[in-house]
Amino acid sequence: MAATLGGLWVADWTRRAAASIHRHREELIELDRAIGDGDHGENLDRGYTAALKALDNEADPAPAPLLRSIAMALMSTVGGASGPLLGTAYLRMAGAAREDIGPNELVAMLQAACAGIQERGKAAEAEKTMVDAWAPAVRAAAHAAEVGGGCHEVLEAAARAATIGAQSTFDMVATKGRASYLGPRSAGHLDPGAVSTSYILAAAQEAAKEETADS
Ligand code: ADP
Ligand code: MG
Repeated sequence: MAATLGGLWVADWTRRAAASIHRHREELIELDRAIGDGDHGENLDRGYTAALKALDNEADPAPAPLLRSIAMALMSTVGGASGPLLGTAYLRMAGAAREDIGPNELVAMLQAACAGIQERGKAAEAEKTMVDAWAPAVRAAAHAAEVGGGCHEVLEAAARAATIGAQSTFDMVATKGRASYLGPRSAGHLDPGAVSTSYILAAAQEAAKEETADS
């Protein structure tokens, strides 16, 4: 069982994330139509398609340069509020990534991603944004590493917490982003960015499962 993750994992994660976002495109569009402008699925599908191309064009197969290339692709193609936020998340992960990523490095990467999103978007938890998926994911990941979990366990915990966090946005009233224009009427809907975050982190977990299984 491989103890660490590397560039192969980053590439596999991106492919799985792109496929998942593409599969959930209409659902994300519908969620954003209810409390935003209906473009989130389209934005992310376009962004991850560009990220796949960036992966293919990146000559250096180490995690940091791959994550940086993905960040640039997302920043220049996703648009909306989510493009700069997700781009920042990937840039910060690139900054925290090591050649060999163990559980503690993985936690550091996720922490850096969430901190970057919060610095950029100024959202705290319970404001009905992607932070409501990222923040609990980081906490769960840190706990999993603390109790001795490997990379897959860390990402499994993160993905599960992100899914629960995304579900928790249903009752929230949005106070950041486009959905905040609706005020109390934003309650009773899931936040599209929190839901897409749960798909992205689930893809990270699936890729890690694959990576750590056969070596
Ligand atoms: P836009 O709102 O510009 O149309 P998208 O539809 O692509 O952009 O993304 C909307 C998502 O962005 C929201 O569901 C929310 O999760 C996230 N978001 C918006 N503003 C913020 C913010 N300030 N901090 C964190 N996430 C935010
Ligand atoms: Mg939108």
